[in-house]
Amino acid sequence: MPESKWPMITVEEALTIVLRYACPLPSVEVNLAEALGRTLAEDVRADEDMPPFRASSVDGYAVVAADTQPERRLIGEQTAGQMSDLRVLPGTAARITTGAPVPEGADAVVMVERTEERDSYVVIHQPTVRSGEAIRPIGQDIGRGDLVLRAGQVLGPAEVGVLATVGRQRAPVIPAPVVAVLSTGDELVEPGERPGPGQIRDSNRYTLMGVVRQAGAVPLDLGIARDEEVDLRRRVARGLAEADILVSSGGVSMGHLDLVKPLLEELGTVHFGRLYMKPGKPLTFATVGSRLAFALPGNPVSSLVSFELVVRPALMQMQGRSDTARPTRRVRLAHAVRHDDDRTEYQRAIVRREGDGYWATTTGFQGSGRLMSLVGANALLVLPMGHGDFAAGDEVNALVVDDVG
Ligand code: AMP
Ligand code: MG
Repeated sequence: MPESKWPMITVEEALTIVLRYACPLPSVEVNLAEALGRTLAEDVRADEDMPPFRASSVDGYAVVAADTQPERRLIGEQTAGQMSDLRVLPGTAARITTGAPVPEGADAVVMVERTEERDSYVVIHQPTVRSGEAIRPIGQDIGRGDLVLRAGQVLGPAEVGVLATVGRQRAPVIPAPVVAVLSTGDELVEPGERPGPGQIRDSNRYTLMGVVRQAGAVPLDLGIARDEEVDLRRRVARGLAEADILVSSGGVSMGHLDLVKPLLEELGTVHFGRLYMKPGKPLTFATVGSRLAFALPGNPVSSLVSFELVVRPALMQMQGRSDTARPTRRVRLAHAVRHDDDRTEYQRAIVRREGDGYWATTTGFQGSGRLMSLVGANALLVLPMGHGDFAAGDEVNALVVDDVG
């Protein structure tokens, strides 16, 4: 039997190697509208107080709180967006809208629901008015010079809003890595085509472009390379030129048409070519200059699982993310699971919360070509190397890859 020349290493060893090369990309300035999901590259401080003026938090009447008479003479109206020269004195009130600056002299706002307007007066139907009532003081939310966001924080909608609040029209962020996605195989046709004899449709490019997007990166579609050197070389060269990372699927096994590993060896350095991992054993990682190249096995489950375990953490780290690993959870097996102890196996499962524990049910036959075993799966059960079969009720670690119901 021909032996692969690549030494086997563990998934943990592979990850350590990959993360050594997956450096955060240099930061760039982007418009706020493009900042969502990016990692902030620098600390951000507030340029001004928020609110910048004493602001009414309700629609109502600006008054002097110490004043006890229910009737106040109306002296005018203060709406949001301008400063007026109204001056509220005891016995008077100014109509005011939410977000408007509280006029001078006033130290409280009575909400409109607790008043009644009559001719040029307003009657306050509230026994006492507290000084400061319904007024947001200057700097209540954010003080000028406050550190509002830290470098390394992931910008969600609220964080983007804070950037807008402190006047950052543009923000320094780690950009989304561009990931070139390539399928390889003479048997592959596009999804819109009817496969001829011996052919199947290419699914990997679509699943991989999907997980690339989910990881916050931008896919670049390199199409399908034939199992032939010239075509493969041309597409790989384009990927390495235009993207930060190349992810291919297929062509890394032991067949004489498995041309990807030799090509990567020729172009750069192959760091590993075989893992104690099921599915995904022939997963290959190379660097070509500053570019990272991952050659994933072609079986649809193998390619996705190996992406999940090794490529996704690299993509996260390149985006400056500290949460490179998926959360793990101890789960109980709802049924017995057969497992060979020679490799760590990642079985697709559905994990559910029941009572105070989590239970895992398999998604069925775990063949590495059976993409349906990933449909609806929210976890990968980690069945460690060196451990044989598992019984129903046994506890294992699960990588949570989607919401657990
Ligand atoms: P390979 O890794 O090229 O030996 O391919 C392993 C298995 O995965 C074969 O049965 C291929 O037909 C299948 N395969 C490879 N690439 C794809 C793809 N892009 N979409 C669906 N199946 C694929
Ligand atoms: Mg192939």
